[in-house]
Amino acid sequence: MSRTDFAHPLTAGFWEGAGAGRLMIPHCNGCRQWQWPVKYRCTRCGGELAWKQATGRGVLLSWSTVLRAPRPELQPLVPYIIAFVRLDEGVVLMTHIKDASGQGLAADKPVVCSFELMPGESGAARLPVFSIVEG
Ligand SMILES: [Zn+2]
Repeated sequence: MSRTDFAHPLTAGFWEGAGAGRLMIPHCNGCRQWQWPVKYRCTRCGGELAWKQATGRGVLLSWSTVLRAPRPELQPLVPYIIAFVRLDEGVVLMTHIKDASGQGLAADKPVVCSFELMPGESGAARLPVFSIVEG
């Protein structure tokens, strides 16, 4: 059973992009700013928003290790790391940090997006996750 409404008109563009391996973020046709979280109109100028592909690159802002899963289908992933990432486009996403134990993480480390199948969701639903860019 799917717990996420992938067809909801507000977020369908995000999920369609993720399924195709693209990080799609709303972009304002009026003030040319990126909008996150997803809204029906730009929160700065009220302009129309259109989905636009983001670079998928950013920096780590903060993070926390999850030791107790909030949903049963996430239990096999425990422990895992949730984080706030600031994209190069300037918006901040709450996301997962992939393949990290929590050691070696530091604020402002560069991160890059990839996509993984979503635990507990049927079909080809994919979720953007981020990895630390080493070097
Ligand atoms: Zn705007």
